Amino acid sequence: MEQKKIKAYDNVLELIGSTPLIKLSKITENCSGDFYAKVEAFNPGHSTKDRIALYIIEQAEERGLLKPGDTIIETTSGNTGFSLAMVSIIKGYECILAVSSKSSRDKIDMLRSLGAKVYVCPAHVSADDPRSYYQVAKRLHEEIKGSIYINQYFNELNIDAHYKTTGPEIWEQTAGQITHLIACSGTGGTISGTARYLKEQNPEVKVIGVDAYGSVLKKYHETREFDPNEIYPYRIEGLGKNLIPTATDFDSIDKFIKVTDEESAHMAREISKTEGLFVGYTSGAVMQAVKQLAEEGEFDKNSKVIVIFPDHGSRYMSKIYSDEWMSAQGFFDSVNSEEARKIEY
Ligand code: PMP
Repeated sequence: MEQKKIKAYDNVLELIGSTPLIKLSKITENCSGDFYAKVEAFNPGHSTKDRIALYIIEQAEERGLLKPGDTIIETTSGNTGFSLAMVSIIKGYECILAVSSKSSRDKIDMLRSLGAKVYVCPAHVSADDPRSYYQVAKRLHEEIKGSIYINQYFNELNIDAHYKTTGPEIWEQTAGQITHLIACSGTGGTISGTARYLKEQNPEVKVIGVDAYGSVLKKYHETREFDPNEIYPYRIEGLGKNLIPTATDFDSIDKFIKVTDEESAHMAREISKTEGLFVGYTSGAVMQAVKQLAEEGEFDKNSKVIVIFPDHGSRYMSKIYSDEWMSAQGFFDSVNSEEARKIEY
């Protein structure tokens, strides 16, 4: 008797990409148009960064820059670090991550659990200090033969990864009917690569980037000048920047909109509660942007709006999903909400 074939993936990397598009309903109840989220938490590493980790490493392999046992280096404690560690395990590379001492213990432990070697570097020193995580990563890259430095903020391959995957997936999933793409901009890779592809298919697709108050991106987009006065501390991680990344193609983006820490945090919690989608802080930011854009009259009944939800809520248990943290930020003060009352008891 002929044996049936076992249905299994060869490894976890085969599950990267092809994430679902999910229609939003309750959270967009009062907005004109149809809204769909590209939910990147469905990647095996629970974020959109799986795509760039796999793509950049495979490009280096194709170019003969990596052989088994070589080393991948990056400066991140966030999603990119997680994805690089995961890809390195499967492909047999060392993964070294230089992170700031501001990174939470949980994040560092998580990266170490995935086999990464983590260098914890002092947060209070300037970027050109030899002890900073930038300089440590650079030095390790110079010292370690057979190493590549991912450098996601200044790596064009970050854009290409999304041009080759996220863009075509959205075009296909929407049957070419997309009218708006709304996405967060950090390195800018996601929005730029996706926008480039979509605008090649239909130049009318409107692309709106989401930026944080305290970041320079929006102002730079408008003036093409770096304005240090725009910079001040904010809490959302992964959104906005205090420098101009070359992984952002500003010409592919029609406009930027800024959102606050507080509104984005409440919005992320709202998405989880209304849509059953447990999403990260920047997913809240992107929906907050949608709300502001809807109020400005950006959409009409024919709009087909795609938002990108970059990662999963589980990474934020001690932040936006902690009532204590929300309260400590003063995020419950201005809302006369049930949530605020709940903490008092
Ligand atoms: N959201 C989160 C949680 C992120 O980690 C990042 C990456 N910095 C982004 C959004 C922005 O994506 P990109 O870097 O591709 O602009």
